[in-house]
Amino acid sequence: MVQVNGNYLKLKAGYLFPEIGRRVKAFTEANPQAPIIRLGIGDVTEPLPEACRSAMKAAIDAMGTREGFHGYGPEQGYLWLREAIANHDFQARGCAITAEEIFVSDGSKCDSSNILDILGEGNRIAVTDPVYPVYVDSNVMAGRTGEADDAGRYGGLTYLPITADNGFTAEIPTEPVDLIYLCFPNNPTGAVASKAQLQQWVDYARAHGALILFDAAYEAFIQDPELPHSIYEIDGARECAIEFRSFSKNAGFTGTRCALTVVPRGLMGRTATGEAVELWTLWNRRQSTKFNGVSYMVQRGAEAVYSPEGQAQVKALVAFYMENAAIIRRELASAGLEVFGGEQAPYVWVKTPAGVDSWSFFDKLLQQAHVVGTPGSGFGAAGEGYFRLSAFNSRTNVDEAMGRIKAALAA
Ligand SMILES: *Cc1c(COP(=O)(O)O)cnc(C)c1O
Repeated sequence: MVQVNGNYLKLKAGYLFPEIGRRVKAFTEANPQAPIIRLGIGDVTEPLPEACRSAMKAAIDAMGTREGFHGYGPEQGYLWLREAIANHDFQARGCAITAEEIFVSDGSKCDSSNILDILGEGNRIAVTDPVYPVYVDSNVMAGRTGEADDAGRYGGLTYLPITADNGFTAEIPTEPVDLIYLCFPNNPTGAVASKAQLQQWVDYARAHGALILFDAAYEAFIQDPELPHSIYEIDGARECAIEFRSFSKNAGFTGTRCALTVVPRGLMGRTATGEAVELWTLWNRRQSTKFNGVSYMVQRGAEAVYSPEGQAQVKALVAFYMENAAIIRRELASAGLEVFGGEQAPYVWVKTPAGVDSWSFFDKLLQQAHVVGTPGSGFGAAGEGYFRLSAFNSRTNVDEAMGRIKAALAA
């Protein structure tokens, strides 16, 4: 028989979203009439912006003509899209990022996993706790961790707690690390990092030759003009950071698929024998070999995000979700719950009532309010005692869900 990748067997069974699915299925089978509202999985709900749809329709029509047909495109993405991204997302914010440093892809989930292809085995890895599970599981699959303990913490990873006790700040660990995953605005906590906090990480990374993997999937939701949208707003970040961005959450591309990774020229790693190697060259080689680019239509749709109409429509989408987040915060606070996040991010991170753990609170809301959220403990041991509610839903559903949760808590 063929040999399997045994690292997959280290993955904790009962992964978060399948377990949620199992509990919701059991409940709906027993209560088929219960009108479930899902504020759990972080998927967007509102229609794709008109500017993006028009651009994609025009692109399909062009593909039906001999002159407008496009076959394989550049693996890195079309230059017109990479230039629009470099101009609007980076240079306009004072970040010296060029089109050449942008790699267009079909998702940040894939990119943040695939990046391990170009990184060596021996790196000491830091992740926040709670964390977006992809960073951890992709390291487990690649054999970069040990086994999980009873709390679900993998050997070989350094966990940086982000909880109310430290103001949801990822603090520099006392033990040395080489690879640091940071996601701000944060999924799941909705917390943000200030320029001063990120400067500490960049200074640390430069001093120790470490690499920061910065996930900016939620930058469009930032409301406070003082907060950085990109790691490259921080002095020195070009020498120590890769950034992931996605059109999934700002422009509703979760089902359309388009994202990007920034790998600055001159950002170096080293070989096992100590020679310096440019990461850009390795990532370019990796993408050229294993990836054949994003479809022409989708890249035209992503380009339209940067048109004046696209910008206005994306702003309106973000504002709509942020109003949902404000409603969730206000209603849960008025019900006596302690709420975090939801001010610069589409997630509200709720402290569960005293003595109620994350999964018990999940069961209570499911059974008594027919509302599905996400237990904080599913994102890491330090998420125990918290619960994530997503602002990605219709206003009707958010209003209805809040009414039901308040009634359940008052009962
Ligand atoms: C939704 C999300 C992404 C985006 O992933 P895509 O694959 O681009 O849809 C990236 N990072 C985090 C933390 C997310 O929650």
